[in-house]
Amino acid sequence: EAKQKKSLKQFFQPFMDGKALNRLVLENDLFEALQQNQLSLVYQPQVNLITGRIEGLEALLRWRHPQHGWIPPDQFIPIAEDTGLMIPIGEWVLRSACQQAKLWQESGLGPLDIAVNLSTRQFYAQNLAETIGEILEEAGVHPANLELEITESMMMNVEHAQTTLQALKKLGCKIAIDDFGKGYSSLYYLRHLPIDRLKIDRSFIRDLEHNHRDDTIVSTIISMAEHLQLEVIAEGVETIQQSEALRRKQCYRAQGYLFSPPLTPELFVQQFSRLMIS
Ligand code: C2E
Ligand code: CA
Ligand code: CA
Ligand code: CA
Repeated sequence: EAKQKKSLKQFFQPFMDGKALNRLVLENDLFEALQQNQLSLVYQPQVNLITGRIEGLEALLRWRHPQHGWIPPDQFIPIAEDTGLMIPIGEWVLRSACQQAKLWQESGLGPLDIAVNLSTRQFYAQNLAETIGEILEEAGVHPANLELEITESMMMNVEHAQTTLQALKKLGCKIAIDDFGKGYSSLYYLRHLPIDRLKIDRSFIRDLEHNHRDDTIVSTIISMAEHLQLEVIAEGVETIQQSEALRRKQCYRAQGYLFSPPLTPELFVQQFSRLMIS
């Protein structure tokens, strides 16, 4: 089997440019990644722009491949989705993030919202709310401290979205729309679905100070969120100018390299514990 794997890799080597690893190879290896502890989570702070304090964290998945090193999630999550592996991987993510949240809570940090990304497959699984309920209970984390990030494309089937989101709300979790404005934005679902927060896509933040249209769109999203009584967060904030522009527009929560890249739990505590003491 090992020999077969090797010849497979050699066969595809000429097509690899170092960046785009062959899909077949990754698909094969992803099955082992979960069992062999190659997956981990890093955490990026969500900062209050008025107080400067950390109010939340987003958990982001990492895969350290034994031969190829770090593989970005954009490369392996689509594969995990196609193969169905995203269901067990997604559960692992939820469980790990909740366990980590509990550890931080016990050591006196927080309270923090912990944001976890849901994949389409997970969102369409029949028992999502039940699974999440069990994971929260096992970890001893209050449901209100878990925020689930979903994307607009998952809302296309409004009926399904309604059923699933209501079950998650009943559990007590918060719901955020990730990458807001990037996809198929429908005002219909904002009216009809139980959503707590809009996460403004970073493509609108990038040229915020120089692009009048982006500036207008961001202002509009913020004021719409306010009128609908939704919370709002900006992602991909990289400069002080962007963060100040957001504050002027009354967006008070942000995430981005300006504050911190995603960090391992160890680094996170080292750098931020003073900002998290409740
Ligand atoms: P996302 O949910 O939109 O996550 C934000 C991405 O932006 C992260 O990339 C983060 O590292 C990056 N980022 C943070 N601050 C900045 C900034 O200031 N500038 C720029 N240019 N980028 C910034 P990452 O970790 O590579 O994740 C990429 C995507 O993979 C995520 O986008 C999400 O869609 C997906 N993903 C990551 N972890 C998970 C997971 O556990 N489950 C699922 N279903 N998807 C995940
Ligand atoms: Ca996200
Ligand atoms: Ca996002
Ligand atoms: Ca995304």
